[in-house]
Amino acid sequence: MRFSSALILAACLVAAGCTRLTPEQQLINDSAKALGGVEQVQQLTSLVLEGDGTQYNLGQDVLPGASGQTFTVTEYKRTIDPVAGRARTELTRTPNFAFFQGPAPQKQVQGLDGAVGYNVAPNGMATRIPDAAAGDRRAELYHHPLVAVRAALDPAANLANLRTEGAESLIDVTAADGQTFTLIVDAATKQPTRVQTRAYNTNLGDVVIETAFGDYKAAAGLTLPATLTTRTDDFTTAVVRVANQAVNAAGGDLAAPADAANAPAISGIPPANVTVEQLAKGIWLLAGQSHHSVLVEFSDHARLFEAPQNEVRALAVIAKAREVLPNKPLTHLINTHHHFDHSGGVRAAISEGLTLVTHAANGPFYEQVASRPHTIVQDALAKNPRELKLELISADTVVGDDTQSFTLIPVTSAHSESMLVAYFPKDRLLVEVDVYTPGSAAQSFAAKFKEDLEARKLRIDRIVPLHGAVAPYAQFVKEAI
Ligand SMILES: [Zn+2]
Repeated sequence: MRFSSALILAACLVAAGCTRLTPEQQLINDSAKALGGVEQVQQLTSLVLEGDGTQYNLGQDVLPGASGQTFTVTEYKRTIDPVAGRARTELTRTPNFAFFQGPAPQKQVQGLDGAVGYNVAPNGMATRIPDAAAGDRRAELYHHPLVAVRAALDPAANLANLRTEGAESLIDVTAADGQTFTLIVDAATKQPTRVQTRAYNTNLGDVVIETAFGDYKAAAGLTLPATLTTRTDDFTTAVVRVANQAVNAAGGDLAAPADAANAPAISGIPPANVTVEQLAKGIWLLAGQSHHSVLVEFSDHARLFEAPQNEVRALAVIAKAREVLPNKPLTHLINTHHHFDHSGGVRAAISEGLTLVTHAANGPFYEQVASRPHTIVQDALAKNPRELKLELISADTVVGDDTQSFTLIPVTSAHSESMLVAYFPKDRLLVEVDVYTPGSAAQSFAAKFKEDLEARKLRIDRIVPLHGAVAPYAQFVKEAI
């Protein structure tokens, strides 16, 4: 049998020995050739992508599953050093919708240097991000075909589970650094079409992050995709349109800034601090950090507004509620809206036996939240499974007994179309979140919310926000413009 010298060379490069290629190695070899050559891919030391694009608003749009809210991304520049495991993305994003933080463009700098993930604020200050988020960025390194195929060519990589689905070949890769990903290749052209990695999301549990590669064209002496589309499961989170790419050019200093590199690692979720402030008889504000809850006492039980952020916060708030009212069973969690930062503790509340009360439009979402697998991280509900008990609110609903009552009011806002606020008539309190944040520079939703309240002719003395400090109604009237 005769082999061409080119094939023998390719085999030597891939297998680090002049043996016959396995089908797995052959697929990777063919993919490298489709990108411009095995050697060219192996010699990748840096990649710079410049362009623009679109970001979507997963977990923060007006309804669960909605994707109408977008940011226009400009001045996008992503630099990757696959050898050192470093990357930095700089971009400016401008919201195309009524954004909580206001309409101004935001500049973002996000980096990774080995185990250290960091963000750089517009004032130049770098902060280290939690290890879990840095891990997501490490996986993201492989969401480009050059980096993925380079890693798969490494003799130290493990290639497994080669399979065909439709017109694509799929292969599971464990890179030399231990990162696993699935590389998906067009069976005809051998160009990589997608890379998938698995990740853990507090609200959604186990998810697949996928980047699809489109619009391949000649660039930097290779054949590279000009469109990168990233999804979390079925939800598109970002589209990048690459205008310029450079391979092995000087990419600038990708080392983590000293402030971040020298900061201690943040592993796990930091502990929660829960403060207690009595607002009226039988009503307490449980605050202490960025996201608050409210505890309400009835004659024979108690109810809680909001299990925000994550299970550490939610379980601490629930424990504090039981400490404040040791003889009143905590029965219900009222969720203000579906946004991930306000629903990250809902599963923990379900695990504690609380009945979930939410706007009717959020019902299917929470049924999914309660039932999705959480195997990458076993959260409180995965460890202590309970049936979801759900009460859906679609019209004004009075909750009360002889001692206490409030009205749950569905609210539609450009912030969320499936919100609940609560009015306490006896103490003239109104509990809300995000449609008005006292003292905040941006009040994107307060004016419309004020109109809604005025139309109801409610007599309100104090606004009890679940962000920020309790405010007299007069302050709300002044700021809601
Ligand atoms: Zn929100």
